Amino acid sequence: MTIDVPQAILDALTDVPMPRLPAERPTPETVGVRGLNLPVYRAGCVIVGSGAAGLRAAVELRRRGGDVVVVSQSAWGGTSACSGSDKQTLHTANTADRGDNCLAMARAIRAGGAMDEDTAYVEAVGSSRAMASLQFMGLPLPQDPLGGTLRYQTDHDEAGRATSCGPRTSRLMVKVLAEEAIRLGVPIHNHTTVARILTEGDAAGRRVSGVLAFRGKDRSDANPLGLAVYLAPVLVLAAGGPGELYRDSVYPNGCFGSLGLALEAGIDLVNLTESQFGIGTRREGFPWNLSGSYVQAIPHVYSVDGQGREHHFLADYYRTTRELASNLFRKGYQWPFHATRMLDFGSSLVDLAIWREGRAGRRVFMDFNRNPLPVPGDRPFDLRQLDEDARAYLGTAGAIQGLPIERLRHMNPLAIELYRRYKVDIAAEPLEFAVNNQHMNGGIAVDVWGRSSLARCYAVGEAAGTHGVTRPGGAALNAGQVFGTRVAEHIAATGLARPPEVAAAGPALDQAVAAVHALLRPESPLRVRAIRAEVQARMSEHCGIICDPEGVARALVEARALNAQVRTQGIAPDRASEAARAVQWQQMALASEAVLTALNRFIGLGGGSRGARAICDPAGDGLPMARSGPLEPYRFRKERAEHRGEQIVVRMAQGRIELELRPNRAFDETARPFFERDWPAWLTGAIFDLPAATGRAPC
Ligand SMILES: Cc1cc2nc3c(=O)[nH]c(=O)nc-3n(C[C@H](O)[C@H](O)[C@H](O)COP(=O)(O)OP(=O)(O)OC[C@H]3O[C@@H](n4cnc5c(N)ncnc54)[C@H](O)[C@@H]3O)c2cc1C
Repeated sequence: MTIDVPQAILDALTDVPMPRLPAERPTPETVGVRGLNLPVYRAGCVIVGSGAAGLRAAVELRRRGGDVVVVSQSAWGGTSACSGSDKQTLHTANTADRGDNCLAMARAIRAGGAMDEDTAYVEAVGSSRAMASLQFMGLPLPQDPLGGTLRYQTDHDEAGRATSCGPRTSRLMVKVLAEEAIRLGVPIHNHTTVARILTEGDAAGRRVSGVLAFRGKDRSDANPLGLAVYLAPVLVLAAGGPGELYRDSVYPNGCFGSLGLALEAGIDLVNLTESQFGIGTRREGFPWNLSGSYVQAIPHVYSVDGQGREHHFLADYYRTTRELASNLFRKGYQWPFHATRMLDFGSSLVDLAIWREGRAGRRVFMDFNRNPLPVPGDRPFDLRQLDEDARAYLGTAGAIQGLPIERLRHMNPLAIELYRRYKVDIAAEPLEFAVNNQHMNGGIAVDVWGRSSLARCYAVGEAAGTHGVTRPGGAALNAGQVFGTRVAEHIAATGLARPPEVAAAGPALDQAVAAVHALLRPESPLRVRAIRAEVQARMSEHCGIICDPEGVARALVEARALNAQVRTQGIAPDRASEAARAVQWQQMALASEAVLTALNRFIGLGGGSRGARAICDPAGDGLPMARSGPLEPYRFRKERAEHRGEQIVVRMAQGRIELELRPNRAFDETARPFFERDWPAWLTGAIFDLPAATGRAPC
């Protein structure tokens, strides 16, 4: 039986209109800095970013009486509003009758190592609340007739913890959270790009005092760059991931994140070596992940060379048609590349094969109107001749139709509808795709309340480096919701989220404006476009799924040279409106150096292949095999067990990037809360780990 879903329902889940933002209230206050006259906005807390994580923090803080403003480069930009996949996933605890519990979920979340154990538990135990409150705000998660949430299995998930509203889960999350923020009267300042974090005090007493931002609408003769000052005692960085770091990327355009911004403010970053890569359509067209039912429908995958000839290249890797088709199917729930899955003819051999086709200058396509062609000399494709996991799944789903497009339409008509919205009809024509960068697992180092190393500065969502080496599919969205809530609880407990009464921002503002002026130099030979091309090419060529020690070391030298040049020569924006982009590209070049510095050190410590990448090494003990024989150039080092227990911390001090190793924070699984013993800590606010003078009761 084919699922027959009325078009209106498909439309509502794929074409999600966002709420209208209320008019922004102008500020009457200005400050003179270096001959400029800048508007000053005051708030108890500035939240940078209006993705699902930032909006969650805003809503929760406002509900607790905090004075908050959200500033955003693009209110409905970023990954939450603009990214997705076949069934974009939210990962939350399943119920005990389905074999789940929070300790098991926490173990699964941190299974790949390099993750704080307490953070994993926080995410697990907070997930039910995150999901229920999203449902309360109107998120249409699917239910069975008795109210149970419909779930499925995804990457690194043994208990079926995934659920989804369809391709647009995170956009729907942004929608319901934004509606709630607007209802609560949270101001959202759109087209406002934060360029510098302002601080006050020295050494251990150094803390946030606000931010300097670009706001096109504040541009005037007295303020030609449109700079604006936000004074606030508390800052939440929710600026998402560094999507612009790689050329081959499935992030939407214009995702810069806040790694460079944080480095410049002396904030600790962590786990920058860890990212996620996988198959999807690139951002040059319509960036979208090809996970789940797209590959579980088992389309024919082929490449086309410069002469227009088709190549059935996967047949060079897998030994039988059954092995080829079953591994393609597995990309559905083993979506991210993982070096060890290249071994034993596993599913990441698909990523390697596609990556190599791209290197050879061939374009790769998925054809939903053809079943996979047979491996030469073997039997033709047959749905009854698949490995047990694939056969059982497709059988239970009733996806036994003759063609991939029919199976896809049966399992998930939204997956087809979604591409149609962007003028790509996968029912009619093959879909071009590649292996792309998709997620930054590392980021700003935070504790269990989302506090960064800079006092009064918090980080949530993809900006925070809370994920270890692997993360279950959907864990990113869950982490943003759980930590968005916790950050708000913590800020509310400090009682600090009130607009500051200080006269101005002190010397920090003067220095920040001076730094912007020092960077933007009309006479510089460096242009935004050139920096972008250089950084992205270097990262994709040397820091993607396949890398080697020499390549990484060379890339680091080049990245340092680029940053030295930026420091001495600045960047020439093509026009005033490109000034914010110039700052973001300067910060992205810095972030790229930070990633390469950490990766180079990791490799130097004997670090091997794990989540993001294979570290190729002729002396390595992992050797992927293909049908034609060993793939010697891709022999790789395996991961060392001891590296799972630690994380690389990256910070910038006196203009230099410094590294430090630290062990994962532990979590005692045997410790049990006890109501009467632990209640006072909640009642008095001691759970928030605040200095005695500021500790407030949470209720
Ligand atoms: C194709 C794709 C599919 C994915 N699928 C899944 C999935 O199924 N499940 C899952 O859990 N995760 C998934 N992810 C990851 C997940 O979508 C992101 O990690 C998550 O949405 C990040 O949310 P966020 O709120 O932290 O950041 P974003 O949603 O990216 O929001 C960042 C915000 O910050 C603003 N901003 C950035 N820089 C500045 C600045 N300097 N000043 C002011 N504002 C700024 C942006 O305008 C934006 O509003 C996917 C990612 C991609 C790319």
